[in-house]
Amino acid sequence: ESFTTFGLSRPIQNALDGLNYKQPTEVQQKVIPKALHGKDLVVKSQTGSGKTAAFGIPLCELVEWEENKPQVLILTPTRELAAQVKEDITNIGRFKRIKATALYGKQPFHRQKEELKQKSHFVVGTPGRVLDHIEKGTFPLEKLDYLVLDEADEMLNMGFISQVEAILAELPEKRVNFLFSATMTEEVERLSERLTNGPVRIEI
Ligand code: AMP
Repeated sequence: ESFTTFGLSRPIQNALDGLNYKQPTEVQQKVIPKALHGKDLVVKSQTGSGKTAAFGIPLCELVEWEENKPQVLILTPTRELAAQVKEDITNIGRFKRIKATALYGKQPFHRQKEELKQKSHFVVGTPGRVLDHIEKGTFPLEKLDYLVLDEADEMLNMGFISQVEAILAELPEKRVNFLFSATMTEEVERLSERLTNGPVRIEI
């Protein structure tokens, strides 16, 4: 198997070549075709499986470059993961000139606010700071088509459920949802039922 079977556009394929990603990992093989078709997904996979690119590649493909307001929100349990995901998205979207903004605590709110005024296709952040921007009206949500909950089990372990719920309540109802989790506890199942609509389930 190679990435060329997905029929990706030239800028995305070139970026993967540049990253020296020759073959899709198992989670990428299963997720990318479904995600390109706009299906809701519930994916059980570990860190290190290539999960970030599994959602990053199709989402970089799907976003419209011309749109100025954010189209994708990726929620992560930690600042470190948010920074890493932002970097991965930036690398995959490099030749499409995809812009990703990271929102997390311990960084000046006003600088993030200014960044959100520029074109930003992706917002990647931790629930607390993302909610802060939503409540202050500095994160426009009208064009938000895609939501990714990354490491959903960790998100729950860290007690972010009420903030995640508060964010969900503000998002446009018509959107595509991806939930990624290393473990599928009952709590994660409940969250996935609350979040997704007839999802494709993938277990690695
Ligand atoms: P992740 O599970 O998203 O944390 O990814 C684990 C590591 O695998 C990261 O360093 C990625 O850059 C790398 N990676 C992801 N997909 C591929 C691929 N198809 N080929 C080679 N490396 C990859």
